[in-house]
Amino acid sequence: MTFLEVRDVHMSYGHNEVLKGVSLDVAKHEVVCLIGASGSGKSTLLRCINALETITSGEIRVDGDVVSGPGVDVNRLRRNVGMVFQSYNLFPHMSVLRNITLAPTRIGGKSKEEAEAQALELLGRVGMRDKSHAFPDALSGGQQQRVAIVRALASNPQVLLLDEITAALDPELVGDVLGIVRELAEDGLTMLLATHEMGFAKDVASQVCFLHQGRILERGTAAQIFEEPQEERTRQFLSRVVTAGRL
Ligand code: ADP
Ligand code: MG
Repeated sequence: MTFLEVRDVHMSYGHNEVLKGVSLDVAKHEVVCLIGASGSGKSTLLRCINALETITSGEIRVDGDVVSGPGVDVNRLRRNVGMVFQSYNLFPHMSVLRNITLAPTRIGGKSKEEAEAQALELLGRVGMRDKSHAFPDALSGGQQQRVAIVRALASNPQVLLLDEITAALDPELVGDVLGIVRELAEDGLTMLLATHEMGFAKDVASQVCFLHQGRILERGTAAQIFEEPQEERTRQFLSRVVTAGRL
């Protein structure tokens, strides 16, 4: 059953239409990967789903509820739909623990004790429990990204959006972060992720969508998209990816 539904979504920055009618269904427990060249609209699509951008037409639903357009309860939406960014976006003046417990206590109605207990449990799962009192600038990029994932999970989201979360990491740190995402996938978390890690997409994705100039040009299983792409544009993109050593 469809859990996240994107229906004919258009979005413009000024006169520049960057999403030109995107439709997408993500079922519960499914992991959907968005691939495509830089500028194709991957981040914009994820940002629209999380109401960080306003769509110009179309509709987005989560668990049947419309979450796009005027009158949407953004706090409620973001409790249900978590997001992790390429650039971590942790608050630099707050400890790891405070970064994680902020939303659950301020918006989620949890007590400090409850939120901290959950944060420590989640930090333990990503091997970061001993860093709970550290500040972000004392952590490596990979560690900061693990904290950012935990922060998103702390609101118990029903869907997690991940926007190229390993793109800013040194190569030796990428594996740890992808390993965590892989575990989340195995646990059945519903995820929609933009990624340049094609090998990873091949392993975890139940569906791969190739975006080109604001449209989903081709979609299918990882095997279909990576091994038998039907569209010339998809083939060109993948051959550049292969040349870059990412497949
Ligand atoms: P991707 O994530 O696939 O690289 P984006 O969604 O970031 O693509 O960008 C899609 C298009 O939207 C690009 O043409 C980009 O220049 C434009 N764009 C992205 N963010 C903004 C912004 N804040 N203001 C204006 N144009 C933007
Ligand atoms: Mg992007």
